[in-house]
Order: sequence, then C-alpha cells, then structure tokens
Amino acid sequence: MTKGGRRHQSSASAVHHPFMTMDLCALTIHEAREGLRAKQFSSMELTRAFLDRIHALNPRLNAYITVNEAGALQQAQVADERIARGEDTPILGVPIAIKDVLSTQGLRTTAGSRILENYLPAWDATSVARLRLAGAVFLGKTNTDEFAMGSSTENSGYGVTHNPWDESRVPGGSSGGSAAAVAADLCCAALGTDTGGSVRQPASLCGVTGLKDTYGRVSRYGLIAYGSSLDSVGVLSKNAHDAAIVLSVMAGQDPCDSTSVDAPVFDPHELADRSDVHGLRIGVPREYFIEGMQPEVAEAVRAGIAQLHKMGATVKEISLPTTKYALPVYYLIATAEASANLARFDGVRYGLRVPGADLTDTYRQTRGAGFGAEVKRRIMLGTYALSAGYYDAYYIRAQKVRTIIKQEFERAFAEVDVIATPASPTTAFKIGEKADDPIQMYLADVFTLPCNLAGICGISVPCGFDPAGLPIGLQLLGRAFDEAALLRCADAYQRETNWHTRKPVLS
Ligand code: GLN
Repeated sequence: MTKGGRRHQSSASAVHHPFMTMDLCALTIHEAREGLRAKQFSSMELTRAFLDRIHALNPRLNAYITVNEAGALQQAQVADERIARGEDTPILGVPIAIKDVLSTQGLRTTAGSRILENYLPAWDATSVARLRLAGAVFLGKTNTDEFAMGSSTENSGYGVTHNPWDESRVPGGSSGGSAAAVAADLCCAALGTDTGGSVRQPASLCGVTGLKDTYGRVSRYGLIAYGSSLDSVGVLSKNAHDAAIVLSVMAGQDPCDSTSVDAPVFDPHELADRSDVHGLRIGVPREYFIEGMQPEVAEAVRAGIAQLHKMGATVKEISLPTTKYALPVYYLIATAEASANLARFDGVRYGLRVPGADLTDTYRQTRGAGFGAEVKRRIMLGTYALSAGYYDAYYIRAQKVRTIIKQEFERAFAEVDVIATPASPTTAFKIGEKADDPIQMYLADVFTLPCNLAGICGISVPCGFDPAGLPIGLQLLGRAFDEAALLRCADAYQRETNWHTRKPVLS
C-alpha cells in the first residue's frame, strides 16, 4: 500500500461522513488535525464521538479507570475557540488518553492502586502539562498494573483490561489500558510509561505502535515513580508519525527533573517527509531469537526485517552476549528502587490511611490494606537486595552488569544504526494464564528490559498476526537520543505495510 493511498483513504472517509462516530474515532492525530484545521468537524464533535464509544465499549474492555467526561468537553470547547482564533499546534483539539500513573491536576490519579483510590493531584506531570498547553483533550486515565509493576494489567487494583483482539486475553502491561484504548479506537493516542517494556510490550500485544523514548528525553516530574533510573514516559499511537508528534510536544528539559536533557527535538512532519531506510544499517542480535519463543513471532519479525532490507536497509547479524543477564539485573535494580520510592505511601502524607494502635501500626495497616500482592512482593525483594550484607552482593553487582550491558549496546551502535528484534516472545496470553507464576510473567519482558537498562530508545510496530489472529510486534532499538532514526525507519515501514491499519472487530 502506498503512503498517499493509506493516509488519504482514511481522511477521505472522515471528510464525507463527518458525523459517523466510527470514522472520527479511527482518525490518526495527523488526520484529526487536518480535519480540525479544515473545519470538517470540531474538537467538540470529535470528543463526543470518543466519549460515546468509550461509554459503549469501556464496560467490556476496562481500558479506562476514570473517564474525564466533563473535563474533556470543556477542554474541547476551549480548543475550538483557539482554532477559531487561528491558533495551530500539532495536537490542538485532539482527544488523547493518559496512563493513570501520570499526575493530572484535579483529575483522580490512582497508579492502579487502591492506596491512591481518592488521590487528586495538585499539579500536572510535566509531560501532561505540555500537552495541555498545546491544547490536547484528555479523555481519561487508563488502566495499569499497580504502580506499573506487571506485564498484563492483571495487577491493577481496578480489574484487568481485556485485549480488543480477543477479550479472553490480556492486553499486555503495564500500559495495557492505553494500548487497548488505542487499539479499540477509544482515543486518538495515549501516554504510557516504560520502565522495562511497559509501552512496547502492550503495543505489541494490542497491534499498535509504542514508542519508548530515551531516558531523559521527557521529564519524569509528576510520573508516580517506580524505578527512577529506568522510568520513561512514552507514547502508544496508531502509527509512528503520531508517536513523533506527541513526543515533539512532550520532550525537552524541565527544571523539575534534573535527569531531563536539553537535546534538540525534531520536527515530526519533516521527519515523516524524509523517512527512508536507504543505507540504514540494521543489526539483528542472535540472542533475541530464543528457544521457547512462539515460532510465528520469530517468523513475522524476520519477515519484517526482510521487508526493511527490500526497502534498502542493510541487515547483518550481531551479538549481544549479556542479554541473558538483563532480566536478573533488571529485577534487582527495579525492585530496589521501587522499595525506596514506595516508602512515601505511609498513610500520613496522602492517599489511604488505615489508623492503627500507634504510628508503626498505622504504616502496617495502611500498606497492608492499600498495596496488592505483586507490589508487596517487589518491596520485599528490593528491601532484601538493599539490606546490609546483601547490598554489595546483589545491588552493586547488578549495577556493574548494567554498565556492561550499556557498553555492549554502545559497541553495537558503532556498527549499526538500528537494532531489530521481537518485542515480546509470545502474542497475547490468556487472562489468568501466568497470574500465579511471577517468573513466567517476568519473562514477558525479556526482549524489552535491556533497552531501559542501557537508557536508549525503542519502538514496537505491528508486523504480522499469529494463526489465532493476534498481533505481533517488531521492536526497533536506537542510540540514546536518536529517536529520529527509529521513527523514520518505523514510518518508512508503515508506508509500505498495512499491519498497523488493521482493526479488531468489536461488534
Ligand atoms: N513488566 C516489567 C515489570 O513488571 C516492566 C514494567 C514497566 O515497564 N513498567 O517491572
């Protein structure tokens, strides 16, 4: 399918039937902006269409924890006034969803936890504030594993999200609500967060595009912390061009996050115009095609890489031998950082408070009642890894191996521009299938974790379906702050293929 053909096709349907709910909800950000700019529909109409669809489908899918109905309509009205005044931003009037670990001023933010059931943040996360300033409309807060700890959204305190491609299956996680919302056209795009794969893995399992930008690219201020040296704010969208648009609005240094970096941000439209893989050097690490992975996943990913080769990229096999250490290293560092970060939920500062006999008992009662089983497991693991006597043996050791993993990527990126791998070893699994086996669940992220440990960027793009009709994702990894290379490669791929335009049937 050609570039012009695909983009033109869907905008044309919106032009001819501006009030058909389905068509409006299927628009990409780019198409929605074109329609708004040309006054084919208003932000109010667009927002109403999404709210209607959310009312119809969210009871089944549980993609949203909180729907921001009144707030969204108000934002849409303001956006329409700005549009009428001739204002223009890449996201003005476009309805999006926000993962419920990002603080939204005055809008309930639960982090998927009962401990924050009634928490109303006093400020926006910087990523959210930048989108608000640019005129995005916030449809609501999407479901997530509690404190973003998980790979299936089953650890949410608000019920599991169902995969729109097969409602008996998980959407992946932890940004499963955002991935399902994008796949089911319950928003134009959604914010997610990725500590070890939580944007790319659910994107892969739901057949949408998921961008995890470089650590430091987007401010973490207002993101409820899980593993602070790994956390990043990313985007789930209908295509790579849209991911570039959202990233360009959110990115940039922020005085409130000292790890945010002042790196030049690209122009998403210019990037899309120049997307081409001629001369791009792609490395395929042999350690990412492992025994036990679903054969159809390996096949579809290899076919995706062959497609990029056909389009002019050079492809060569590379080796990243420390890949096998990424999982244990990640689960030491992430849990250690989580155990420190979650100390703030003490029943005193904010959130749930269950009064006990004395202060210590209040901590115990509050945390015992407010946290779910996986969060408690991680706090215990992390506290153990940081305790005197074990700190050197586990935590420090893990940090040293992390450095080696990072250096290995740096060496690889001296020879190749992009690394291509599967995003997940399997397609979406059944709800409950891995819920009682934490190790099996942790393995769901075996291909996405190394990227966070190395602090680089990655994207998952749909590249096929298994025989059960479940989507498969191709992961592309790029050098730190080289999202442009990834997005160009992904956009070029999406101009030549139509995996990303397929939709689940939700009758
Ligand atoms: N599944 C991984 C974990 O549970 C990654 C989660 C994430 O990226 N937030 O830690």
